[in-house]
Amino acid sequence: MDSYDVVVIGAGPAGEVAAGRLAEHGLAVAIVEGHLVGGECSFYACMPSKALLRPAEVLAEARRIPGAREAAQGELDVQAVLDRRDEVIHDLDDSTQLPWLEDRGVVLHRGVGRIAGERRVRVGDEELEARRAVVLATGTVAALPPIPGLGALDHAWTNRDATTAKQIPERLVIAGGGVVGCEMAQAYRSFGAAVTLIEGERRLLPREEEFACAQVSDALVEAGVDIRTGAKVCGFRQTDSGVEVDVSDDTTAEGDEVLIALGRTPEPEKLGLGELGFEPGRYVAVDDNMQVPGHEWLYAIGDLNGRVLLTHMGKYQGRIAADHILGRPNALAHGADGSLSPRVIFTDPQVAAVGHTKDSAEKAGLRVRAVDVETSGNAGGSFYGRGAPGTTRIVVDEDRKVLVGATFVGSEVADYVHAATIAIVGEVPLERLWHAVPSFPTRSELWLRLLEEYGL
Ligand SMILES: Cc1cc2nc3c(=O)[nH]c(=O)nc-3n(C[C@H](O)[C@H](O)[C@H](O)COP(=O)(O)OP(=O)(O)OC[C@H]3O[C@@H](n4cnc5c(N)ncnc54)[C@H](O)[C@@H]3O)c2cc1C
Repeated sequence: MDSYDVVVIGAGPAGEVAAGRLAEHGLAVAIVEGHLVGGECSFYACMPSKALLRPAEVLAEARRIPGAREAAQGELDVQAVLDRRDEVIHDLDDSTQLPWLEDRGVVLHRGVGRIAGERRVRVGDEELEARRAVVLATGTVAALPPIPGLGALDHAWTNRDATTAKQIPERLVIAGGGVVGCEMAQAYRSFGAAVTLIEGERRLLPREEEFACAQVSDALVEAGVDIRTGAKVCGFRQTDSGVEVDVSDDTTAEGDEVLIALGRTPEPEKLGLGELGFEPGRYVAVDDNMQVPGHEWLYAIGDLNGRVLLTHMGKYQGRIAADHILGRPNALAHGADGSLSPRVIFTDPQVAAVGHTKDSAEKAGLRVRAVDVETSGNAGGSFYGRGAPGTTRIVVDEDRKVLVGATFVGSEVADYVHAATIAIVGEVPLERLWHAVPSFPTRSELWLRLLEEYGL
């Protein structure tokens, strides 16, 4: 039996970061991977989806700027976009990911890992001992709810199909108007597919500010996406030309393909956790050190613990678990995780948010005031995102005079969110923030406008 200090199961972003940090601090570490080193994120989620979205976004931005606009009148070269996507995912070959592990001395065991008892992991015929800890980082898979007809379809797309497709269907129906549904609607519409997007809640992106949802919805409608909200997908039928989808408002939608984007599900039972009393299909609960209560040798990080399904937060949790195992405790900062985490939706306009929405702050019992400005309404906005629709909002805790939330909507606003994250996590008083002077003429002057609008 091979013996290590720590065995990590799952080499997605969360598992890789935990394994790398542990090994960098001198521990003997093994990582077990059943499919591709790099995980869902590198091959079927974050990376390919952004590769599919970026070219149309660049084209739209070029068309907003006179001089560039005249040069950018052609159509998107869809095949070139797909080829670039294949480059980004290395044609589903993970060999470029291996040197990162090798450089840190992390030993890779290929195969599906299962807990074989306390501090024991089985991979095929091998058994690995984990003297200090086992870290579970096995992520989630697309949820396929028991909707009539779904199981009988020849094939329903999940995120894996949508992000790796070699051909663009003429008609795509997307069930689910959350982040994955909206991003894929944007991408496939830009490739020329007729897209129908169906969301059971009354609006798309239901967890974000209402204005963010409205501005993304308007842009998708203008691009030609058929959005149906407040109605659930309730049945599927295979037809000669594709799939017919029944919607609860008594309408139907037809697609050559149907993408199921109805959330994610963990599979703890596949890890042998059933024997430890864990329920199938339920996230593995952890404390603020990512330790599984009642099993001090066991940690769960990333999507698997369900706290927040985002790569950067899984990596953060990986660092927290590693530090706890290393005896340098650095538990989760209060409020830095979960639904308040920084998040970006890469539609056009983008939505970049951190902390509370006004609504969620009020529901949390905070006395808040929200201030809104137009995102591109400053000198920098004449050069980037010129005239693009979008609102920025900060949410201020009136008792403590600090930011508790920020939402940016507009062209290429993803990188704005980190300044807001620093202000929120650092609990920077507003009157101090006032002295953080944005350069001219950058779009960051929107911070000045926000604080002026607030009354500073
Ligand atoms: C379409 C899409 C787009 C997304 N875009 C973004 C984005 O832009 N930004 C962002 O932050 N997040 C995004 N996400 C979410 C992000 O992909 C996940 O939060 C992230 O991948 C979770 O990382 P993880 O390490 O927990 O799990 P994963 O990335 O799922 O990796 C888990 C790994 O464990 C392996 N594994 C599973 N079971 C076993 C086993 N028993 N033995 C061995 N190996 C096993 C799997 O093969 C996989 O490699 C997106 C998700 C989707 C679906």
